[in-house]
Amino acid sequence: MKLDESVKAASLTPTAELLQDAGQRALAYVQSVHDRPVNVSTQALQGLNAFRHSLPDAGLDAREVLRRLDEAGSPATVATTGGRYFGLVIGGALPATIAANWLTTAWDQNACFRWTSPIAATLEDVALRWIGDLFGLPDDIGGAFVTGASMANFAALAAARHALLSRLGWDVEAKGLYGAPELRVVVSKETHVTVSKALSMLGLGRERVIVVPTDHQGRMRVSELPELDEQTIVCIQAGNVNTGDFDPAREICRLARKAGAWVHVDGAFGLWALANRQIDTLTDGFAEADSWATDGHKWLNVPYDNGIVLVRRAATLRAAMSLNAAYLAEGDATEREPSHYTPESSRRARGVDIWAALLNLGRDGVAALVERTCRYAGMFAQGLEASGYEILNHVALNQVLVSFGTPEMTRAVINRLQAEGICWCGGTVWQGRVAMRISVSSWATTDADVQTSLRAMIRAAETCAP
Ligand SMILES: *Cc1c(COP(=O)(O)O)cnc(C)c1O
Repeated sequence: MKLDESVKAASLTPTAELLQDAGQRALAYVQSVHDRPVNVSTQALQGLNAFRHSLPDAGLDAREVLRRLDEAGSPATVATTGGRYFGLVIGGALPATIAANWLTTAWDQNACFRWTSPIAATLEDVALRWIGDLFGLPDDIGGAFVTGASMANFAALAAARHALLSRLGWDVEAKGLYGAPELRVVVSKETHVTVSKALSMLGLGRERVIVVPTDHQGRMRVSELPELDEQTIVCIQAGNVNTGDFDPAREICRLARKAGAWVHVDGAFGLWALANRQIDTLTDGFAEADSWATDGHKWLNVPYDNGIVLVRRAATLRAAMSLNAAYLAEGDATEREPSHYTPESSRRARGVDIWAALLNLGRDGVAALVERTCRYAGMFAQGLEASGYEILNHVALNQVLVSFGTPEMTRAVINRLQAEGICWCGGTVWQGRVAMRISVSSWATTDADVQTSLRAMIRAAETCAP
């Protein structure tokens, strides 16, 4: 076959037919995901061998490509969107966001500049304003849509580095860190690994930090904070991945403000609690920080590749992330140019997914999602405790830590539960104790899912009992 004939053969199916096929397959997946096992069967794992062949010379018809993806691929997915996946802090994907994401993919917009995609830039503006409003943040915040909280932590800490060093007369973007005044970074013992990674990428050093001890809930002990000054960045947390608890932001922000230090919040999932005014004992003071990192793809339940960075003054983030120094000389632009706020240049229009979730849920819907998932976490804790198992954390949010007795016993229960596939929970070690962690973060989880999963947990524990 000639080269161009071979290429033609690869596009036999008309686009309309192909997209309808994709729609039907996706619908079938979404409709069945709730009732299938959460884990991946051995058979499905073996089925992945179908993909392990060499690259063919001649391309395949697009419909055949899709058929292969669905037939061997769909069964090998972990059913994280089904409502009974409680591992890590995962969340599902609201139907409105899947649909908006599809249409956006068809647009194939480059969200780099306003002129490469006016719609992407506009919806980013709108979504940022809505998020700021939802969290009760100041009006002049700047922000950007990045891949996840890892990159949001990176971008926010780059802004912090810029702000502190420029005040000391050092242009870190131009000159780098060699010869710069030294910055101190304060973290807690419970700081997320992605904050450490961001510090390493920024030349601030993973290990060059002051580590503040934490209490029984993993909260920073304010009394053990070092003296703060204008050369210090303090990294605090909204939502400990184990206990769900928050650092005492009010007091830390007060001390930092007085000293001229910068406070950065890693709120990958927990920051969304700011949308629910009923849990303001936890969220108190977080709006006083200088920068925030959060995820859309966890508690807000939008598809993956959706993180958000927010910085108190837009100009600070822009100075740290701008594509070129010349742009800065132009002074304040009237319109936000997306590429000047992110580590990336070309990227997908990920702000659309978040805009869709917020419009679909509304202010009350976000608060209700937070309330419901926290209530379910409480139900898990109560149910397990009533059956005689020990809850290791005060369930302040949506995370539950349970011990089924000895470390071996707890591990055995986790393994059994995972193999059975009715629900899925992971293991963790909390303050030296082996625990099973239950994270309730999906919009799709129902009362019935909680009851079914609770029964499965108790059954697994009884079966594993010596
Ligand atoms: C998940 C998480 C992160 C990292 O977020 P990604 O979206 O995986 O990059 C950072 N901090 C906390 C507290 C998290 O839960």
